Amino acid sequence: MIDGYGRTIDYIRISVTDRCNLRCTYCMPEKGTLSVSHEEILSYEEIIDLAGIFASLGIHKIRLTGGEPLVRKNLSFLVKKLKQVSGIHQVTLTTNGIFLYDQMDELVSAGIDGINISLDTLNPQLFEKITRRNGLEDVLQGFHKALEYPQIPLKINCVPMGIEDQNITDMAMLAKKYPVHVRFIEMMPIGLGKQYEGQSEEAVLRELKLRFGECQNSEKAPGNGPGHYYQFEGFCGKIGFISAVSHKFCDSCNRVRLTSGGFLKPCLQYETGTDLKKLLRQNESEECIRAAIEDVVRKKPQGHQFGKQQNEDTENRMMWQIGG
Ligand code: SAM
Ligand code: SF4
Repeated sequence: MIDGYGRTIDYIRISVTDRCNLRCTYCMPEKGTLSVSHEEILSYEEIIDLAGIFASLGIHKIRLTGGEPLVRKNLSFLVKKLKQVSGIHQVTLTTNGIFLYDQMDELVSAGIDGINISLDTLNPQLFEKITRRNGLEDVLQGFHKALEYPQIPLKINCVPMGIEDQNITDMAMLAKKYPVHVRFIEMMPIGLGKQYEGQSEEAVLRELKLRFGECQNSEKAPGNGPGHYYQFEGFCGKIGFISAVSHKFCDSCNRVRLTSGGFLKPCLQYETGTDLKKLLRQNESEECIRAAIEDVVRKKPQGHQFGKQQNEDTENRMMWQIGG
């Protein structure tokens, strides 16, 4: 599909749940989260049906996200079914890694094409402070399990928060030691992220160069995302940056998002979109659903306005409700 600004839309992030087993301070409040009820969440059958319609419209790549996608029962079943949908070429996963050790084998058997683990620090005390939960050991076990499958591309996503103990260079060391790309994701002023400054790409790169020396711009970017990458000497993997605020990449945006409640969003920052679950459950025809999707894509905003005044259509959902 081509949107109103000439961008090709071929990628969708599908949130399979808004529940999570962590409570990262910049994403989810400690208490008082009202989850979408089981009846209101899209069933696997509904997600699979929608995937067929998306594929027929040229959306060939799916990333499963959440909340925490691995807390939803039998996620590998969904992966397997999505891989069988004609026109779906790639199914990947973004996870906090807590349940990855237990589920990696079945995800691989189901045909998963890539895994991103979100991990902000290797410091156990700080991990607990950021996520409000214990679990670094579990994430690291999951990480090592994933490394047993070198054919499945593995990336680590880290949000630099500007805290000294976060030890950004230790995070980058993972790309030195292991065949993984480590990406630093700029804090976005969405939901609770508004309360944090984060650390700029320039500051992170400066710190990395001090520790590891100069680096080369990497021509070939791995994956479907908007990241730009650097290669440090002696590193197995690359270091990437996804800086939505300071290095706005809306001109090349290729994606839409589906919430776990079935709402299709064309842009992270706006609450505009359409309720596909309603259409599905009213038994509307495939043509009708296809037309609704095309309409959302046609009206995809030109870009985000982070940092500018909020309008009535500014997104009020938080990241755990959208899927990042
Ligand atoms: N629970 C899974 C995980 O953490 O990977 C998937 C969902 S989570 C919302 C997806 C990604 O969004 C994570 O990498 C997380 O760090 C990131 N994220 C959440 N809030 C953010 C914010 N305000 N700015 C930038 N990234 C954010
Ligand atoms: Fe959960 Fe992911 Fe949000 Fe952390 S970033 S609270 S793991 S949804």
